[in-house]
Amino acid sequence: MIEGDLLMLYDLAIVGGGPAGCSAAVTAASRNLNTILFDVGGFAPALRKAPRIENYLGLPGCSGKELMDTFVAHVKSGGTKIATEKILNIMKLNDHFMLAGPSKVYEARSVILALGVSHTAGLPGEGDLVGKGVSYCATCDGNFYKGRNIGVICTVPALWHEVEFLASIASHVTCWLTFEPAAVPVNVETRRKSPKKLTKTDDGILISDGTETIVDGLFILRETDPVSRLMPGLDMSGKQIVTGHAMETSVPGVFAAGDCTGSPFQINKAAGEGQQAVLGVVDYLRVTRS
Ligand SMILES: Cc1cc2nc3c(=O)[nH]c(=O)nc-3n(C[C@H](O)[C@H](O)[C@H](O)COP(=O)(O)OP(=O)(O)OC[C@H]3O[C@@H](n4cnc5c(N)ncnc54)[C@H](O)[C@@H]3O)c2cc1C
Repeated sequence: MIEGDLLMLYDLAIVGGGPAGCSAAVTAASRNLNTILFDVGGFAPALRKAPRIENYLGLPGCSGKELMDTFVAHVKSGGTKIATEKILNIMKLNDHFMLAGPSKVYEARSVILALGVSHTAGLPGEGDLVGKGVSYCATCDGNFYKGRNIGVICTVPALWHEVEFLASIASHVTCWLTFEPAAVPVNVETRRKSPKKLTKTDDGILISDGTETIVDGLFILRETDPVSRLMPGLDMSGKQIVTGHAMETSVPGVFAAGDCTGSPFQINKAAGEGQQAVLGVVDYLRVTRS
Protein backbone atom coordinates (compact mmCIF):
# COMPACT_ATOMS: atom_id res chain seq x y z
CA MET A 1 0.00 0.00 0.00
CA ILE A 2 1.46 3.32 -0.99
CA GLU A 3 1.24 6.03 1.65
CA GLY A 4 -0.60 9.09 0.36
CA ASP A 5 -3.15 11.85 0.54
CA LEU A 6 -5.81 9.37 -0.57
CA LEU A 7 -8.53 11.00 1.52
CA MET A 8 -8.06 14.38 -0.13
CA LEU A 9 -9.53 14.76 -3.61
CA TYR A 10 -8.23 18.08 -4.95
CA ASP A 11 -10.16 20.05 -7.58
CA LEU A 12 -6.91 20.70 -9.40
CA ALA A 13 -3.35 19.38 -9.39
CA ILE A 14 -0.73 21.59 -11.05
CA VAL A 15 2.48 19.80 -12.03
CA GLY A 16 5.32 22.32 -12.28
CA GLY A 17 5.99 25.55 -10.38
CA GLY A 18 7.53 27.80 -13.04
CA PRO A 19 5.74 30.92 -14.35
CA ALA A 20 2.96 28.82 -15.94
CA GLY A 21 2.27 26.75 -12.82
CA CYS A 22 2.49 29.76 -10.47
CA SER A 23 0.12 31.79 -12.65
CA ALA A 24 -2.29 28.85 -12.73
CA ALA A 25 -2.12 28.55 -8.93
CA VAL A 26 -2.90 32.25 -8.41
CA THR A 27 -5.91 32.11 -10.75
CA ALA A 28 -7.08 28.83 -9.19
CA ALA A 29 -7.01 30.46 -5.75
CA SER A 30 -9.07 33.39 -7.03
CA ARG A 31 -11.63 30.85 -8.34
CA ASN A 32 -11.71 29.05 -4.97
CA LEU A 33 -10.39 25.78 -6.35
CA ASN A 34 -8.89 23.36 -3.85
CA THR A 35 -5.47 23.10 -5.48
CA ILE A 36 -2.15 21.36 -4.97
CA LEU A 37 0.98 22.44 -6.84
CA PHE A 38 3.91 20.06 -7.30
CA ASP A 39 7.41 21.27 -8.04
CA VAL A 40 10.67 19.38 -7.78
CA GLY A 41 13.23 21.76 -9.22
CA GLY A 42 12.99 24.67 -6.78
CA PHE A 43 10.55 26.70 -8.92
CA ALA A 44 12.01 27.22 -12.41
CA PRO A 45 15.71 26.57 -11.73
CA ALA A 46 16.77 27.45 -15.28
CA LEU A 47 15.02 30.84 -15.25
CA ARG A 48 16.50 31.57 -11.79
CA LYS A 49 19.94 31.65 -13.43
CA ALA A 50 18.99 34.60 -15.66
CA PRO A 51 20.78 37.72 -14.30
CA ARG A 52 18.33 40.18 -15.91
CA ILE A 53 14.84 39.91 -17.39
CA GLU A 54 13.84 42.90 -19.50
CA ASN A 55 10.54 41.88 -21.02
CA TYR A 56 8.31 40.78 -18.15
CA LEU A 57 5.46 43.24 -18.01
CA GLY A 58 5.82 45.86 -15.27
CA LEU A 59 9.02 44.46 -13.72
CA PRO A 60 11.87 45.31 -16.13
CA GLY A 61 15.43 44.65 -15.01
CA CYS A 62 14.77 42.14 -12.24
CA SER A 63 16.69 38.88 -12.13
CA GLY A 64 15.10 35.50 -12.81
CA LYS A 65 15.46 34.64 -9.14
CA GLU A 66 13.76 37.86 -7.99
CA LEU A 67 10.92 37.31 -10.42
CA MET A 68 10.37 33.68 -9.38
CA ASP A 69 10.57 34.57 -5.66
CA THR A 70 7.84 37.17 -6.29
CA PHE A 71 5.68 34.61 -8.12
CA VAL A 72 6.10 31.98 -5.41
CA ALA A 73 5.29 34.49 -2.64
CA HIS A 74 2.11 35.38 -4.55
CA VAL A 75 1.16 31.70 -4.79
CA LYS A 76 1.80 31.15 -1.08
CA SER A 77 -0.28 34.20 -0.12
CA GLY A 78 -3.27 32.56 -1.88
CA GLY A 79 -3.04 29.46 0.30
CA THR A 80 -2.35 26.90 -2.45
CA LYS A 81 -0.89 23.69 -1.04
CA ILE A 82 2.67 23.22 -2.35
CA ALA A 83 4.41 19.84 -2.45
CA THR A 84 8.13 19.50 -3.18
CA GLU A 85 7.58 16.30 -5.05
CA LYS A 86 8.37 14.93 -8.47
CA ILE A 87 5.29 13.50 -10.13
CA LEU A 88 6.30 10.35 -11.96
CA ASN A 89 3.04 9.09 -13.38
CA ILE A 90 -0.51 10.33 -13.94
CA MET A 91 -3.40 7.96 -14.53
CA LYS A 92 -7.09 8.53 -15.12
CA LEU A 93 -9.30 6.58 -12.72
CA ASN A 94 -13.04 6.88 -13.38
CA ASP A 95 -13.84 10.61 -13.02
CA HIS A 96 -10.53 11.73 -11.50
CA PHE A 97 -6.76 11.40 -11.76
CA MET A 98 -4.13 9.68 -9.65
CA LEU A 99 -0.74 11.36 -9.51
CA ALA A 100 2.11 9.21 -8.25
CA GLY A 101 5.22 10.67 -6.62
CA PRO A 102 8.16 8.56 -5.47
CA SER A 103 6.37 7.43 -2.31
CA LYS A 104 2.93 9.09 -2.27
CA VAL A 105 -0.17 9.10 -4.41
CA TYR A 106 -2.47 12.11 -4.79
CA GLU A 107 -5.93 12.45 -6.33
CA ALA A 108 -7.42 15.35 -8.27
CA ARG A 109 -10.43 16.00 -10.49
CA SER A 110 -8.33 17.89 -13.04
CA VAL A 111 -4.66 18.41 -13.90
CA ILE A 112 -2.59 21.22 -15.40
CA LEU A 113 0.77 20.15 -16.81
CA ALA A 114 3.19 23.09 -16.48
CA LEU A 115 6.36 21.06 -16.85
CA GLY A 116 8.55 23.40 -18.88
CA VAL A 117 10.81 21.73 -21.39
CA SER A 118 13.77 19.55 -20.70
CA HIS A 119 16.98 21.42 -21.40
CA THR A 120 18.82 18.12 -21.52
CA ALA A 121 18.13 15.88 -24.47
CA GLY A 122 17.94 12.19 -23.62
CA LEU A 123 21.27 10.40 -23.95
CA PRO A 124 21.95 8.40 -27.10
CA GLY A 125 20.63 4.90 -26.39
CA GLU A 126 18.43 6.02 -23.46
CA GLY A 127 15.03 5.75 -25.16
CA ASP A 128 15.56 2.11 -26.20
CA LEU A 129 16.67 1.03 -22.71
CA VAL A 130 13.82 2.42 -20.59
CA GLY A 131 12.31 -0.59 -18.80
CA LYS A 132 15.27 -2.69 -19.94
CA GLY A 133 17.76 -1.58 -17.29
CA VAL A 134 17.08 2.16 -17.34
CA SER A 135 14.51 3.65 -14.94
CA TYR A 136 13.35 7.15 -13.95
CA CYS A 137 11.97 6.08 -10.53
CA ALA A 138 14.23 4.85 -7.71
CA THR A 139 11.38 3.98 -5.37
CA CYS A 140 9.46 2.07 -8.05
CA ASP A 141 12.32 0.00 -9.46
CA GLY A 142 15.15 0.20 -6.89
CA ASN A 143 14.31 -3.10 -5.23
CA PHE A 144 14.93 -4.98 -8.48
CA TYR A 145 18.60 -4.19 -7.89
CA LYS A 146 18.96 -5.13 -4.21
CA GLY A 147 22.60 -5.95 -3.43
CA ARG A 148 23.68 -5.18 -6.97
CA ASN A 149 25.76 -2.63 -8.81
CA ILE A 150 23.71 0.47 -9.70
CA GLY A 151 24.39 3.62 -11.70
CA VAL A 152 22.59 6.94 -11.08
CA ILE A 153 22.60 10.13 -13.10
CA CYS A 154 21.26 12.86 -10.78
CA THR A 155 21.00 16.51 -11.82
CA VAL A 156 18.52 17.75 -9.18
CA PRO A 157 19.66 18.40 -5.58
CA ALA A 158 16.08 17.81 -4.35
CA LEU A 159 16.35 14.22 -5.65
CA TRP A 160 19.53 13.39 -3.70
CA HIS A 161 17.44 11.44 -1.15
CA GLU A 162 16.62 9.02 -4.00
CA VAL A 163 20.36 8.38 -4.46
CA GLU A 164 20.65 7.76 -0.70
CA PHE A 165 17.74 5.32 -0.94
CA LEU A 166 19.45 3.44 -3.78
CA ALA A 167 22.72 3.39 -1.81
CA SER A 168 20.86 1.78 1.11
CA ILE A 169 19.86 -1.22 -1.03
CA ALA A 170 22.69 -1.55 -3.58
CA SER A 171 26.14 -3.01 -3.03
CA HIS A 172 27.75 -0.20 -5.01
CA VAL A 173 26.49 2.99 -6.66
CA THR A 174 28.29 4.99 -9.33
CA CYS A 175 26.69 8.43 -9.37
CA TRP A 176 27.12 11.07 -12.08
CA LEU A 177 26.35 14.40 -10.36
CA THR A 178 26.06 18.08 -11.29
CA PHE A 179 26.01 19.41 -7.69
CA GLU A 180 27.79 18.95 -4.36
CA PRO A 181 25.79 16.90 -1.83
CA ALA A 182 26.29 17.53 1.89
CA ALA A 183 27.34 13.93 2.60
CA VAL A 184 27.97 10.93 0.36
CA PRO A 185 27.26 7.34 1.56
CA VAL A 186 30.38 5.13 1.69
CA ASN A 187 29.26 2.86 -1.14
CA VAL A 188 28.63 5.78 -3.54
CA GLU A 189 31.38 6.70 -5.99
CA THR A 190 30.76 10.15 -7.51
CA ARG A 191 31.67 11.22 -11.04
CA ARG A 192 31.72 14.74 -12.51
CA LYS A 193 32.02 13.94 -16.22
CA SER A 194 28.73 13.94 -18.13
CA PRO A 195 27.66 10.57 -19.54
CA LYS A 196 27.64 10.67 -23.33
CA LYS A 197 26.08 7.40 -24.37
CA LEU A 198 24.29 4.28 -23.05
CA THR A 199 24.66 0.82 -24.55
CA LYS A 200 23.11 -2.51 -23.57
CA THR A 201 25.70 -5.28 -23.23
CA ASP A 202 25.48 -8.90 -22.03
CA ASP A 203 26.89 -7.73 -18.68
CA GLY A 204 24.51 -4.79 -18.11
CA ILE A 205 24.24 -1.13 -19.11
CA LEU A 206 27.47 0.41 -20.34
CA ILE A 207 27.83 4.13 -19.60
CA SER A 208 30.41 6.03 -21.64
CA ASP A 209 31.74 9.28 -20.16
CA GLY A 210 35.22 9.14 -21.65
CA THR A 211 35.79 5.99 -19.62
CA GLU A 212 33.41 3.02 -19.66
CA THR A 213 31.42 1.76 -16.66
CA ILE A 214 29.05 -1.21 -16.57
CA VAL A 215 26.15 -1.34 -14.10
CA ASP A 216 23.25 -3.77 -13.56
CA GLY A 217 20.69 -0.96 -13.61
CA LEU A 218 20.80 2.78 -14.30
CA PHE A 219 18.50 5.39 -12.69
CA ILE A 220 18.17 8.77 -14.38
CA LEU A 221 16.92 11.46 -11.97
CA ARG A 222 16.30 14.70 -13.86
CA GLU A 223 13.91 17.56 -13.29
CA THR A 224 11.77 16.73 -16.31
CA ASP A 225 11.15 13.31 -17.81
CA PRO A 226 9.65 12.66 -21.24
CA VAL A 227 5.92 13.51 -21.17
CA SER A 228 5.23 10.10 -22.72
CA ARG A 229 6.48 8.49 -19.48
CA LEU A 230 4.57 10.86 -17.20
CA MET A 231 1.25 10.47 -18.94
CA PRO A 232 1.16 7.93 -21.77
CA GLY A 233 -1.44 8.58 -24.47
CA LEU A 234 -1.35 12.39 -24.61
CA ASP A 235 -1.33 13.78 -28.15
CA MET A 236 2.11 15.25 -28.78
CA SER A 237 3.70 17.15 -31.64
CA GLY A 238 7.35 16.29 -31.21
CA LYS A 239 8.16 17.38 -27.64
CA GLN A 240 5.14 19.70 -27.39
CA ILE A 241 1.85 18.79 -25.78
CA VAL A 242 -0.94 19.51 -28.27
CA THR A 243 -3.55 21.89 -26.78
CA GLY A 244 -6.70 23.68 -27.90
CA HIS A 245 -7.85 27.23 -27.21
CA ALA A 246 -8.67 26.54 -23.52
CA MET A 247 -5.26 24.81 -23.14
CA GLU A 248 -7.09 21.47 -23.05
CA THR A 249 -5.12 18.39 -24.10
CA SER A 250 -6.35 15.25 -25.83
CA VAL A 251 -7.28 13.78 -22.41
CA PRO A 252 -10.44 15.40 -20.95
CA GLY A 253 -9.62 17.01 -17.61
CA VAL A 254 -5.93 17.46 -18.41
CA PHE A 255 -4.71 20.90 -19.47
CA ALA A 256 -1.21 22.16 -20.29
CA ALA A 257 0.51 25.55 -20.12
CA GLY A 258 3.87 27.21 -20.69
CA ASP A 259 6.96 25.94 -22.46
CA CYS A 260 5.62 22.37 -22.57
CA THR A 261 3.01 23.49 -25.15
CA GLY A 262 5.67 24.91 -27.47
CA SER A 263 7.32 28.19 -28.44
CA PRO A 264 7.67 31.09 -27.89
CA PHE A 265 9.51 30.10 -24.71
CA GLN A 266 8.66 33.27 -22.81
CA ILE A 267 7.51 34.13 -19.32
CA ASN A 268 4.54 36.28 -20.40
CA LYS A 269 3.26 33.49 -22.64
CA ALA A 270 3.69 30.88 -19.90
CA ALA A 271 1.86 33.02 -17.32
CA GLY A 272 -0.98 33.77 -19.76
CA GLU A 273 -1.44 30.12 -20.62
CA GLY A 274 -1.44 29.18 -16.93
CA GLN A 275 -4.36 31.53 -16.38
CA GLN A 276 -6.18 30.34 -19.51
CA ALA A 277 -5.79 26.71 -18.44
CA VAL A 278 -7.49 27.39 -15.10
CA LEU A 279 -10.45 28.99 -16.87
CA GLY A 280 -10.65 25.80 -18.94
CA VAL A 281 -10.53 23.75 -15.72
CA VAL A 282 -13.37 25.81 -14.21
CA ASP A 283 -15.57 25.05 -17.26
CA TYR A 284 -14.55 21.38 -17.21
CA LEU A 285 -15.41 21.00 -13.49
CA ARG A 286 -18.74 22.78 -13.95
CA VAL A 287 -19.77 20.41 -16.74
CA THR A 288 -18.50 17.21 -15.11
CA ARG A 289 -20.06 18.01 -11.73
CA SER A 290 -23.52 18.89 -13.10
C1 LIG B 1 18.71 31.49 -18.63
C2 LIG B 1 17.33 31.80 -19.14
C3 LIG B 1 16.96 33.10 -19.38
C4 LIG B 1 15.66 33.39 -19.81
N1 LIG B 1 15.33 34.68 -20.02
C5 LIG B 1 14.07 34.99 -20.39
C6 LIG B 1 13.68 36.36 -20.57
O1 LIG B 1 14.47 37.27 -20.41
N2 LIG B 1 12.38 36.60 -20.90
C7 LIG B 1 11.46 35.59 -21.09
O2 LIG B 1 10.29 35.88 -21.37
N3 LIG B 1 11.81 34.30 -20.95
C8 LIG B 1 13.08 33.96 -20.61
N4 LIG B 1 13.45 32.65 -20.46
C9 LIG B 1 12.45 31.60 -20.77
C10 LIG B 1 11.55 31.35 -19.55
O3 LIG B 1 12.37 31.02 -18.46
C11 LIG B 1 10.54 30.23 -19.83
O4 LIG B 1 9.80 30.51 -20.99
C12 LIG B 1 9.62 30.04 -18.64
O5 LIG B 1 10.33 29.80 -17.45
C13 LIG B 1 8.64 28.91 -18.90
O6 LIG B 1 7.86 28.71 -17.77
P1 LIG B 1 7.16 27.27 -17.46
O7 LIG B 1 6.39 27.47 -16.23
O8 LIG B 1 6.47 26.80 -18.69
O9 LIG B 1 8.36 26.25 -17.24
P2 LIG B 1 9.62 26.26 -16.27
O10 LIG B 1 10.01 27.64 -15.90
O11 LIG B 1 10.64 25.42 -16.96
O12 LIG B 1 9.11 25.53 -14.95
C14 LIG B 1 8.75 24.17 -14.95
C15 LIG B 1 8.84 23.65 -13.53
O13 LIG B 1 8.22 22.35 -13.48
C16 LIG B 1 8.99 21.50 -12.65
N5 LIG B 1 8.70 20.12 -13.06
C17 LIG B 1 8.90 19.54 -14.28
N6 LIG B 1 8.48 18.27 -14.28
C18 LIG B 1 7.99 18.03 -13.04
C19 LIG B 1 7.41 16.87 -12.41
N7 LIG B 1 7.25 15.72 -13.09
N8 LIG B 1 7.02 16.96 -11.12
C20 LIG B 1 7.17 18.12 -10.40
N9 LIG B 1 7.74 19.26 -10.96
C21 LIG B 1 8.14 19.20 -12.25
C22 LIG B 1 10.43 21.93 -12.91
O14 LIG B 1 11.28 21.54 -11.84
C23 LIG B 1 10.27 23.45 -13.02
O15 LIG B 1 10.43 24.06 -11.74
C24 LIG B 1 14.73 32.34 -20.05
C25 LIG B 1 15.12 31.01 -19.80
C26 LIG B 1 16.40 30.74 -19.36
C27 LIG B 1 16.78 29.30 -19.10
